[in-house]
Amino acid sequence: MSGKIDLEKFKRLLLEEKKRILEKYEMPEEENDEGATDIVDEAAESNKRRLIQTLSYRDSVVLKQIESALQRIEEGTYGICLKCGQLIPEKRLELIPYALLCVSCQEKEEKKIGAYRRRL
Ligand SMILES: [Zn+2]
Repeated sequence: MSGKIDLEKFKRLLLEEKKRILEKYEMPEEENDEGATDIVDEAAESNKRRLIQTLSYRDSVVLKQIESALQRIEEGTYGICLKCGQLIPEKRLELIPYALLCVSCQEKEEKKIGAYRRRL
């Protein structure tokens, strides 16, 4: 079976990535509420909160992709593009073990998202 993807290796990469993301949320809180009552501090606080929300959203998307990729390893469909059904090159999977799309499908998706963003 030459050319077959080393599933164990990618499973390990996926689990490491998952752990790395989850560990970010286990960081001790640096600044506790020290009576941040004036307006400037409140604005800074809400900016910080917004940033955290953004990161959480991005990380939650990646986590979902990791879960999906792990499931696909179990199902034996890992490394197959969700859109076109072609094999995703192993080099790409080494960079992004949770990639669910091949490069050309991913580029198409990103163009769609980019076009959407420009309109905002
Ligand atoms: Zn594809």
